Amino acid sequence: MTIPTVTTATLPALTPPSFDQDIFLAALKRHWQAFGLTRAEDMTRHQWWHAVSAAVAEQLPALHDKAPVSSPSHTIERHVNYLSMEFLLGRLTGNNLINLGWFDDVARVLTDFEINLSDLLEEEVDPALGNGGLGRLAACYLDAMACASQPAIGHGLNYQYGLFRQHFVEGKQHEAPDDWQRNRYPWFRHNSALAVNVGIGGKLTYRKGGVVDWQPELKIRGEAWDLPVLGYRNGITQPLRLWEATHNHPFDLETFNDGKFLQAEKRGVEAAKLTKVLYPNDNHQAGKRLRLMQQYFQCACAVADILRRHHFLGRKITELPDYEVIQLNDTHPTIAIPEMLRILLDEHQLSWDDAWSITSRTFAYTNHTLMPEALETWDEKLFRKLLPRHFVIIKQINANFKQLVDKQWPGDEAVWAKLAVHYDKQVRMANLCVVAGFAVNGVAALHSKLVVDDLFPEYHQLWPEKFHNVTNGITPRRWLKQCNPALSALIDQQLKTQDWVTHLDELKKLEDSVKDKKFCQQYQQIKRDNKVKLARYVKQRMGITLNPDAIFDVQIKRLHEYKRQHLNLLHILSLYHQIRANPKLDIVPRVFLFGAKAAPGYYLAKNIIYAINQVAEKINNDPIVGDRLKVVFIPDYNVSVAEMMVPAADVSEQISTAGKEASGTGNMKLALNGALTIGTLDGANVEIAEQVGEENIFIFGMTVDEVKALQKKGYKPQNILKQDKHLKAILDELASGFYSNGDKHAFDLLLDSLKQGGDPYLVLADFAAYSEAHKKIDALYRDADEWTRRALLNTARVGMFSADRSIRDYQQRIWQAKR
Ligand SMILES: *Cc1c(COP(=O)(O)O)cnc(C)c1O
Repeated sequence: MTIPTVTTATLPALTPPSFDQDIFLAALKRHWQAFGLTRAEDMTRHQWWHAVSAAVAEQLPALHDKAPVSSPSHTIERHVNYLSMEFLLGRLTGNNLINLGWFDDVARVLTDFEINLSDLLEEEVDPALGNGGLGRLAACYLDAMACASQPAIGHGLNYQYGLFRQHFVEGKQHEAPDDWQRNRYPWFRHNSALAVNVGIGGKLTYRKGGVVDWQPELKIRGEAWDLPVLGYRNGITQPLRLWEATHNHPFDLETFNDGKFLQAEKRGVEAAKLTKVLYPNDNHQAGKRLRLMQQYFQCACAVADILRRHHFLGRKITELPDYEVIQLNDTHPTIAIPEMLRILLDEHQLSWDDAWSITSRTFAYTNHTLMPEALETWDEKLFRKLLPRHFVIIKQINANFKQLVDKQWPGDEAVWAKLAVHYDKQVRMANLCVVAGFAVNGVAALHSKLVVDDLFPEYHQLWPEKFHNVTNGITPRRWLKQCNPALSALIDQQLKTQDWVTHLDELKKLEDSVKDKKFCQQYQQIKRDNKVKLARYVKQRMGITLNPDAIFDVQIKRLHEYKRQHLNLLHILSLYHQIRANPKLDIVPRVFLFGAKAAPGYYLAKNIIYAINQVAEKINNDPIVGDRLKVVFIPDYNVSVAEMMVPAADVSEQISTAGKEASGTGNMKLALNGALTIGTLDGANVEIAEQVGEENIFIFGMTVDEVKALQKKGYKPQNILKQDKHLKAILDELASGFYSNGDKHAFDLLLDSLKQGGDPYLVLADFAAYSEAHKKIDALYRDADEWTRRALLNTARVGMFSADRSIRDYQQRIWQAKR
């Protein structure tokens, strides 16, 4: 075998490639010719989008395996491997043009063809390879790492079907497959040299000298599809490597030669199943066989690729933790840990201690939830059947760890029952991450505290130095510069620099501008223009007319009980009741906008969607209401829809039960774009409140401690209904058939959960405080200038929620911390 030359001299280019019109036009021509056309004018709009994207993509630098750069302190900068089952990217063409700095050049060239670039960008189908916040976070972090010149690669799965498309039939959610045409996506680069083989199932043979031989039953081929991640105008291009499962060629030749063609083909179909679909659950474990196979497939591909690169760069296996860190985005990619151990033990023939030392200095874990239903555990039987070797390794980890626990808590079976990695016939992924990783972090200050206090107190006692906080962040490139071009231009003009795009703290300087009347007017006008634009979309898509002078009150996020869209709904019903009781009621006109997908098997969440849609239908068509109230559930919420709704929001609904939302990132996007938050002291809301100041946010409801105290005391929603006749009337009317064409059972799931179900997320308990907070919103909005002043202060003061700051925290506290 020849060892390739080590390319340590390859420094990342630090200047962006400049736009070359001739090269671009020549590339464009090749692409329309590839469609079989002779003139650009004959392309459809979609072909235009494709040709422009492909013409830009081919000019990007190659995605080489680069050696790390020495930092001034002469310690080696670790390369980051970000492992995530989800990357919720959103459209790439516009974003890549912005990061390259080519947007205006390309737009200008296209005007010669009478093509509008912004219109073209609408042709792109979102790569929606994620469910919600967790996947979007991964996408923001890739952007921020490229921006910060942090060498990094993302590893994920190349699902054929992204998150389902949502539409409503008579108010009910229906799902359709999202075939995003991965085979024709112009940003992909396929490098077949990177393909790996992955085994699953089969059995173990124990040989002399402790050597274990694993003979997998099924062999799957993993093919690497790279998407370029571009730094902001710094010439850096790094890969997001998405693995696709295919079959080996020739697939099962023996069976084929026996004449059993279809049977031979079946194996290939089996293999390709692995990366067909994204599981549509958010904050809920699926527990399915295929899901475990997906997880292992991703981990095996990623670990093989990380080690391939490490060897390619001429490094010793024992040096792995000096050069590489593997960040696990939640527990979904945890199997990378036993997979790494397996390769070190079985293929490199290292001792357990050496293999463990390498592994336990390489992995770091980000926790995203405390909710029991989301903490992954795998049934021992299933795990052992699919991954017999990994199961043995996990048992060894467990046995070694037990010695430590026995020493610390002698004879305490209750502590072991909590801390074990393998217990009661279950493999517990979060525990494995904490035991085997060198760092654990939560995603907001409050959440990280709860991780230590409530979820992992004993682990914290054992290893206090492992635990960190890294508050989530969002990329200002997509979530301000791209989605709100008018506001971005205004900020550029006011600050006389664009530095804020990569140094979001610079927005602090806008605080001085609250006294600048002209600037405030422009800021206000931009918000109104964005509302008009959203109203146009709603009119066109849903036929509902919105008044842009109404308060646009926005709740956009996955549909989940803990996020409490039903609390929002009850308040809307309360306003509707008040209007009917007093038709002259003086309220500021409100538009309540929702965007949310429910997991297809989460029936209560679907029932909440149905209830919101039915209530919307009634309210929007009731002449007594007039312009005062509109309720709009925008279908198929995704990144592109978010990019339109976020800049148009006046009010941001962040109303989760305290202690349940780990961080939230939607809250950050909305505040940055000048929406005032109505929110509980949960997740990153706590830090947002600290930053913007309590006058500039509407905090309401129970705190984490109050929630705990109430639940300890025993919470009875019926007691609230006994005291609050108005609230009781609202629930009774929902049960009366009034909103459901006489069907008295239409909202049983929702109502049962709030009443007999014990209202586990304390919706009724927080209702009064929530309604009071909304009254304050109504009062403040009447003073347009004061409202604008506070919105502007939100924009100015949320700079710390940049993903760039999060990445710096990861570097300082975890990835590049002194070792
Ligand atoms: C930001 C984002 C989320 C996360 O929203 P939260 O309010 O933090 O739950 C989910 N989906 C999409 C499409 C997003 O852009």
